[in-house]
Amino acid sequence: MAQAVYLQTYGCQMNERDSEEILGMLGAQGYVVVDREEDADVILLNTCSVRAHAEERAFGKMGLMQKLKRERPSLVLGILGCMAKAQREEVFRRLPQVDLVAGPAEIYDLPDLLAGVAERRQRAGFGAGARMLAVDRKVRPLDRRPATDYRAGQVTAFVTIMEGCDKKCAYCIVPTTRGQEVSRPMEEILDEVQQLARAGYRQVTLLGQNVNSYGKRFPDGSGWVGPGRRRALLQLETHAGSADLPSEGLDEPRLVDFPALLRAIDGKTSIERVRFTTSHPFDAHEELFQAMAESRTVCEFLHLPVQSGSDRVLRAMRRGYTAERYLGQIARLRELVPDVALSTDIIVGFPGETEADFEATCNLMARVRYDSAFVFKYSPRPGTEAAGWPDDVPQSVKERRNQAILALQEHISREKLEARVDSEVEVLVEERNRRDQLTGKSRGNTTVVLEGPDALIGELVGVRVRRVTGTTMIGELAGRGASAR
Ligand code: SAM
Ligand code: SF4
Repeated sequence: MAQAVYLQTYGCQMNERDSEEILGMLGAQGYVVVDREEDADVILLNTCSVRAHAEERAFGKMGLMQKLKRERPSLVLGILGCMAKAQREEVFRRLPQVDLVAGPAEIYDLPDLLAGVAERRQRAGFGAGARMLAVDRKVRPLDRRPATDYRAGQVTAFVTIMEGCDKKCAYCIVPTTRGQEVSRPMEEILDEVQQLARAGYRQVTLLGQNVNSYGKRFPDGSGWVGPGRRRALLQLETHAGSADLPSEGLDEPRLVDFPALLRAIDGKTSIERVRFTTSHPFDAHEELFQAMAESRTVCEFLHLPVQSGSDRVLRAMRRGYTAERYLGQIARLRELVPDVALSTDIIVGFPGETEADFEATCNLMARVRYDSAFVFKYSPRPGTEAAGWPDDVPQSVKERRNQAILALQEHISREKLEARVDSEVEVLVEERNRRDQLTGKSRGNTTVVLEGPDALIGELVGVRVRRVTGTTMIGELAGRGASAR
């Protein structure tokens, strides 16, 4: 009889996409996906390690699942993803009933790992002797990526363009858990996007921890590797494209970077909307902004996490830019893409953050006037550089700063949304909500609610904004295929 698998995902959009790939692979092996733990033969949690709170939630959930296993010893329990990599054997110590611990670089091994658990059980029974631990790969072998097409949605889809992260932000566990950067070949991404467009998807979101370093390293070892070589290739491209310059060097390797990928998706596929996340400000160049401005399909929206407005804190975080440089990038982007919507991530209470540092962050936010912001209280992650420094901002101060930033952002978001009342926005209708209304997103990534028939799901429509509540626009249908933003 077919094995039933239940999978719960924590954390970022990359984890959501990884979970789709996992379910696709297991589906191809004959597993059926169930949405209740009680009905499952295999329970998997795809976990996050970015903050301690995320880990504790997964430990808590798996703790509950252990009860099911005590009643039904044949149940297989697996912890996957970043927490598996960060905690390794510690997972087995805290959760003795768990059978499988596998990191993000091992997801393509999952069918073999589950087969391994089954095989060991035949020899050693249902206990600890059947456990499998797979956390040692440094790079995800993208060339072993299985051809699966499992997707959670029908209108929008995630497309992973790269794995891992080569940055060394002092607070962040991701480079440890997800390993070294590696990019998917451009042709493969273009094929996937075109297949999605043919299957009726209207929007793709390109995913990577830092999409701006796309192309640095491909699975076959090619790529632009360092910023110097990237600049050299860029120069070569500029010369090759210019009619009055000699065309020697045309057979040289060409620069395959993120702006080139955006332009290729825009020019060579029939997808209608493109989003991407995340952009590290250090690598967000003029060419990215130019490509956004010139690509019709790329939505006028950029998530550009600043983390702090204080140069002192940015330096300690090893972010590689100053507040002034960041503000300069925003100004240039706004020149090229005037109506661009912006969002950010902020960490409050980083080690040594003073009231003056915090004020600098508030000032930066007031100058940029983001459309939305994610605010996090600093959480020391063992193994990161900052975990070796005193976590010296008291919890109560972190909480106060967190609330103050949220209030500031709420005020700005509200003003920006209210300015949209009576205008027309282009909305991709995605689904029906619990209140039986249609919901979708504007090009600027704001949720828009409207009344209308199911036939509009998956359509790009023009919506006249009538009022706003919280972070949502409420509007009415103005027309189909409208070009308003
Ligand atoms: N790669 C992305 C980038 O560089 O912006 C984001 C990666 S991380 C999964 C998402 C956000 O979590 C970060 O932008 C940061 O604000 C936050 N974060 C990461 N580590 C953190 C920590 N130790 N404590 C609090 N927030 C953290
Ligand atoms: Fe973490 Fe920095 Fe890499 Fe983002 S760029 S994943 S914050 S190390």
